[in-house]
Amino acid sequence: DNPIQRKPAWIRVKAPTSPEYGETRRLMRDKGLHTVCEEAACPNIGECWMHRHATVMILGDTCTRACAFCNVRTGKPGPVDPLEPENMANAAAKMGMKHMVITSVDRDDLDDGGAHQFVACIEKLRARTPETTIEVLTPDFRHKKGALEAVAAAGPDVFNHNLETVPRLYPTIRPGARYYHSLKILDRAKEVNPEIFTKSGIMVGLGETREEVLQVMDDMRSAGVDFLTIGQYLQPTPKHAAIDRFVTPDEFDEYKRVAMSKGFLLVSSSPLTRSSYHADKDFAALRRA
Ligand code: SF4
Ligand code: SF4
Repeated sequence: DNPIQRKPAWIRVKAPTSPEYGETRRLMRDKGLHTVCEEAACPNIGECWMHRHATVMILGDTCTRACAFCNVRTGKPGPVDPLEPENMANAAAKMGMKHMVITSVDRDDLDDGGAHQFVACIEKLRARTPETTIEVLTPDFRHKKGALEAVAAAGPDVFNHNLETVPRLYPTIRPGARYYHSLKILDRAKEVNPEIFTKSGIMVGLGETREEVLQVMDDMRSAGVDFLTIGQYLQPTPKHAAIDRFVTPDEFDEYKRVAMSKGFLLVSSSPLTRSSYHADKDFAALRRA
């Protein structure tokens, strides 16, 4: 009763075949790193890894939550790896990464939600490859006092926290989270460190209306969010939330036009947009401008 819908022609994905893809894969294995590119079964992996752009997932590969759209495994995570920041910085240096995106599973089991591992990663990266710009994509650190403040104060170039969907769909799609709490995180990150750009994103095709999407944009702008991503939700397995519909490329373009008019500095809105898709190129272009 929950069939995977046939993908339209605009969800076309190239098979990952380049030599650079193979090198990125080997390097991640050698350093014992997890990537969200693999764990989330991201459709862009062939393209991103060919350009040596990857999103490293720290704090293990097991999440304490179970969002209805997410392919990451749920369970009791293992201990925090003290060598992870060093390994990640070495991998970024070896790959010559211009822009590094660091994300993590939710660690509701840790007192600081994993915030200090984010801080350690930022510090190691800055020391090892100072020219690499850093984007963190954080969990919501619910009930973890001082956690998000510590990450923002560590000075990533971009602080990203996704709202994922419109508030009406939270109880089914993101049951462990609260919409207004996530919005407040973005607001607070800017307050703690006004130097950093803040970023957020949603998936569409989950049953949201256009009006709801526009309202989310307004909420983000009220929280001072600078960058926005909007992409099509794809159902990772039949057990995950069903796709309501495929949003057309024209609708994505229209969302982008509206978002730019609302004052976002960077907007990526397309069927295959993911939170970190083209984050390297887009951010570099913004810095040159
Ligand atoms: Fe990885 Fe992001 Fe690229 Fe997907 S879009 S492959 S998650 S860097
Ligand atoms: Fe996936 Fe993040 Fe939800 Fe965990 S909290 S299930 S990693 S989306």
